[in-house]
This record gives sequence, structure tokens and C-alpha cells, in this order.
Amino acid sequence: MLIECRKIVKRFHTGDVETAVLKGVDLQIEEGEFVAVMGSSGSGKSTLLYLLGCMDRPTSGDYLLRGKSVLTLDDDALSHLRNSTFGFIFQAFYLIPYLSVTDNVLVPTLYAGRSAGREEALALLQRLQLGDRARYMPEQLSGGEKQRVAIARALINDPAVILADEPTGQLDSQNAEIVMQILVQLNEEGKTVILVTHDETMAAYAKRIIRIRDGQILPA
Ligand code: ADP
Ligand code: MG
Repeated sequence: MLIECRKIVKRFHTGDVETAVLKGVDLQIEEGEFVAVMGSSGSGKSTLLYLLGCMDRPTSGDYLLRGKSVLTLDDDALSHLRNSTFGFIFQAFYLIPYLSVTDNVLVPTLYAGRSAGREEALALLQRLQLGDRARYMPEQLSGGEKQRVAIARALINDPAVILADEPTGQLDSQNAEIVMQILVQLNEEGKTVILVTHDETMAAYAKRIIRIRDGQILPA
């Protein structure tokens, strides 16, 4: 089992108001799956994805990655696990504006033990039809190109798992289709893909759909 959530609760505090955003999530995902997590805005999808990606810790419950609880790890060990296991793709791309396309792709290597070089970054860019954009700055790219740069960045540490949070939310339908085809292909190559979306069209690319409502997973 790649991922196992056991009764995960996540509460946020704002001032003295406490909100439970995830209310006892049980979830299992096998290596090699392509899963879409669907739910309306505010249902807790991003919160869940950040927990799965070890960007945050649950308030209670347990999270096992390949059978081992990650909650006993200290912050350094958790960061290392995150950087070696997961590649992230976000709706808003989050490219660093003052770095070239190639340097953006290399950002995750700064935090990983393993150091991919410029040739690897270029090979990924070529694979994503961006070989001629390697020296561009992000502002010189279209939305579709930006997201493909972000995908190259997500792949640079060769992660087992791709986590994508509404990756087509800012794209036109043609570029959305291109991004989804890339995710399909990565999954066919063996990567586990977890896609968060509120869009049925995008979820249809996944092999399994998990529905979340008001912080709880709905029965399949
Ligand atoms: P979704 O991605 O499904 O739209 P989120 O997981 O982003 O939903 O958020 C779910 C709920 O949790 C929302 O009501 C949101 O306001 C709240 N929330 C998310 N992150 C925080 C935070 N850091 N502090 C307080 N509330 C938060
Ligand atoms: Mg969200």
C-alpha cells in the first residue's frame, strides 16, 4: 500500500475560532493508481492533498506512506521524504519570476539529496515540447507553457507520486487536454497520480474517483 490515511482530522485555528476541515478521513491508494479527488470548493480537497504530500501534518489520525507512519518523523526527515517522493503541480503554476525556465525546473533539486543537472532539466523540457523555451523567463510564456514547465519541475527529482491541485484551472480546454494527456502518460509509465479537481471532465481521465464533501470521503 502506497498511501493510507487513518481517521485523519485537520483543524485550523483562526483567532479563537476552530474549524475542522477534515473530519476523519480514511483513504487508501495503491502504487500506480490514477485517482481524482473531487468535491466542491471548500470541501477540503487541497487540505487533504497537502497532507498527502507531507506539506502539512494532521491534527489527529495517522498517515502511513508505504506502511510507515510519517507522523513520527521530524521536520527535516519529513522534508526529505516529501522532496524525494512527491512532485507537485498547482493551479497557479508558482514559477519563480526571476529564474529562467531551466532554473525553475531545477528548483526542487536544491532541496533533494540527489542533484539532477541542467542536461536532465533540458531533456524534460524537450519531452514536454519546451526545448526552445529553456532560456525564457516565466513572464514570456503562455499559461499552457507555464504549466508544462511546472510539470517538468515536478518530475526533476523523479518522484513516485504526482500531486496535482486543479492543474487545469487556469487553462483553456486545449491546454487542459494537453496537461491531462501528460498526466495519463506519466501514470502509464508507472507514476501514481493524485489529481484534485471539481471538474468532471478532468476527473474522467482518472481510473478512480474519490468524492469528498464537507471534510469527509463519501462511500464509493
Ligand atoms: P478546497 O480545496 O476543496 O476548495 P480547502 O482544503 O482549500 O478546500 O479548504 C477547506 C476549508 O478549510 C475552507 O473552508 C478553508 O477556508 C479552510 N482552510 C483551508 N486552509 C486553512 C488555513 N490555513 N487556515 C484556516 N482555514 C483554512
Ligand atoms: Mg483547493
